[in-house]
Amino acid sequence: MSIRRITENVYELNLGKSNAFLIDDEKLTLIDTGEPDSSGLILELLQSIGRQPDDLKNILLTHSHPDHSGSAADLKAITGAKIYMHPAERKWVEAGYIPKPERPHFTGLVNRLIYRMFIAGAPGSITPFRIDRLLEDGEWLPIGGGIQAVHIPGHSEGQLAFFFPGAKNVLFAADACDNLFGLGYSTFYEDFEAGRHSLEKLATFDFDIACFGHGKSILHGAGMKFGRKFIGHHHHHGGHPQRAAAAAGEEATIRVHEPEERI
Ligand SMILES: [Zn+2]
Ligand SMILES: [Zn+2]
Repeated sequence: MSIRRITENVYELNLGKSNAFLIDDEKLTLIDTGEPDSSGLILELLQSIGRQPDDLKNILLTHSHPDHSGSAADLKAITGAKIYMHPAERKWVEAGYIPKPERPHFTGLVNRLIYRMFIAGAPGSITPFRIDRLLEDGEWLPIGGGIQAVHIPGHSEGQLAFFFPGAKNVLFAADACDNLFGLGYSTFYEDFEAGRHSLEKLATFDFDIACFGHGKSILHGAGMKFGRKFIGHHHHHGGHPQRAAAAAGEEATIRVHEPEERI
């Protein structure tokens, strides 16, 4: 359990089983809230950097899984912060129960075992809450000079990444992938084809730093690493790493997102 400053205005909160992130824009924005009963720990970590509970104004949720949305209700009750989320998983958080996928997809034996040991039997319940503001793909929010919601279904139907070209270009990749054993596929996917497509979409953004729901943030060259890891491989039978890397390099520079709205 620790807090680490990763750019001038972004902090990584290691909550044990998952990460949350804090954007310090005078007022505070939290990305994800950890599993249920993490609110005390999160508020302690805020205090350790000299901030108070009522400095927290916004909670952006990447998806409904209990290790991300589990403490949103408590934090909202304590701080009055507004909760933002994609509409596709609204029904689960309002019901306070997040079902497991019927047929999860695993990219390898290790992920299958991790799922079986730590996720399959975990309770899916959270304290229910209402979403204050629904976020659609591509929307910019006037936080920290502009942060963009990017819909990345696959791991879960309504998952959002957040692209934050603040002090440095940061991508909050949620559980689209993880960095537990190096950069790699997430433990499981509801829909792997959609998940792979979402990773290709993320790889086209212009970012240097990547933050994950699980595993340490990558602080340099993260966009290049996404391109090498997630673009092109399955298009080339037999594999042409150099061609994939070249394609990734080209595509990585295509989309430079300029916020439409800055405050
Ligand atoms: Zn998840
Ligand atoms: Zn997760």
